[in-house]
Amino acid sequence: MSGEVALYRKWRPQRFAEVVGQELVVETLKRAVAQGKLSHAYLFAGQRGVGKTTVARILARAANCLSPEEGEPCNKCENCRRILSGRSLDMVEIDGASNRGIDQIRRLREEVNYVPAGARYKVYIIDEVHMLTNEAFNALLKTLEEPPPHVIFIFATTEPHKVPTTILSRCQIFEFRPIPEELIKGKLLEIAVAEGIPLEESAAALIARRASGSLRDAEVLLEQLAQGGPVTEERVVELLGLPPREELDRFLDALAGKRAAPALETVEGLWARGRDLGLFLEEAVRRARDRIIAGEGELVDVARRLIGWRTELPRSASPRIHLELEILAACGPLGPQGGAVSQGTSEGKTRGEKGGEAAEEMVEAPIPTGDPGDEGREVGSQEALPLE
Ligand SMILES: [Zn+2]
Repeated sequence: MSGEVALYRKWRPQRFAEVVGQELVVETLKRAVAQGKLSHAYLFAGQRGVGKTTVARILARAANCLSPEEGEPCNKCENCRRILSGRSLDMVEIDGASNRGIDQIRRLREEVNYVPAGARYKVYIIDEVHMLTNEAFNALLKTLEEPPPHVIFIFATTEPHKVPTTILSRCQIFEFRPIPEELIKGKLLEIAVAEGIPLEESAAALIARRASGSLRDAEVLLEQLAQGGPVTEERVVELLGLPPREELDRFLDALAGKRAAPALETVEGLWARGRDLGLFLEEAVRRARDRIIAGEGELVDVARRLIGWRTELPRSASPRIHLELEILAACGPLGPQGGAVSQGTSEGKTRGEKGGEAAEEMVEAPIPTGDPGDEGREVGSQEALPLE
């Protein structure tokens, strides 16, 4: 594979048809181009790495293409080539995050009135538009209220709720959805074949899962892995620090059975290996979800709890202790054998203090949590006896 151009740049779609996972968006835009019904302002909303800027650039070419094919840019004509080369004055990209100031928008407002240099439309792509200052938004709004006929604005944002409604109301809004794992996986396999990268299907599935809907993140990961040799599932697990399924199941079963000791052991093991506890919790939630869907409804409470822990963890100064305390709070304190002391046991203990008969009764008493013979019960009976 070529080491000169980053994989995701090389594989960036150049036509609407090549865009992965945004069918509704690209079909609507293609039709608008083909029918000559373009808006003056678009807002592309969606998480990072789902194709917002890519689609904006394709739209800029399609709008200016001298021989468009059913709404697609030809990518061969003078206008297309000039935009592709980055030399066109008629497609201007502004990074909202680094151009928050009023000056850039003022300049834009002056430029906007000049007719395009060689193309039909002057296209302004403003990425991360929600980062603009209020002043800049107000200046922009004045242009949007009376847009010159030859201008198209394309705003992209990961946080549309931060864009003033006065701006939103003047835009045609497109929601870019996270790209489904299956589609990301398929694209990775396609790229691997074309680039001669040995890639296991299970490895592609794992990368797709970790990318959380971002094709770009998946492509960057693939490139990173490919530089070290064939991309196997084992190497992906290692690079990403993903926990093996057995470890996740052990952890989930411990929590479901309110057995603190094995859960704490897992945390200790992760910590010793320098693993990211947040990532582990995320994977545990995912695994719990799969098992719940497969019929293990009793894991719902565990999954809910894990989601809560995952949310709180980044705010904690000492994540390991935080997680350990949460486990103890959820399972009950440790008994002498490392099992949790369940509520049933402490009730038994109180009664046990009254006399020998009560103690016998306590041993027989059903314990509300856990199956007979699990650690909680064993610990309970052994712990209560010395009190006699
Ligand atoms: Zn063209």
